[in-house]
Amino acid sequence: MTNIIQKSTTTSKCSCKGCNNQATSYILTKQKVYLCDECFEKLASQAIANRTPKSPQNTIKRKLDKKREENYE
Ligand SMILES: [Zn+2]
Repeated sequence: MTNIIQKSTTTSKCSCKGCNNQATSYILTKQKVYLCDECFEKLASQAIANRTPKSPQNTIKRKLDKKREENYE
């Protein structure tokens, strides 16, 4: 799988609105989206915050826990 976040090797400016920082990385989209460190952090934390709390991992764990409980009865 290709990393969708690539290190920027050019001197492109950050693509975020109102941001004039130099980009340190870019996202591999049809049109490259350049991001500076600051916006990258913002994007990352927002992406994590927006993630649905029910991750498949948790669902599996809950099922296993339930099974374990049943076995103890
Ligand atoms: Zn920026």
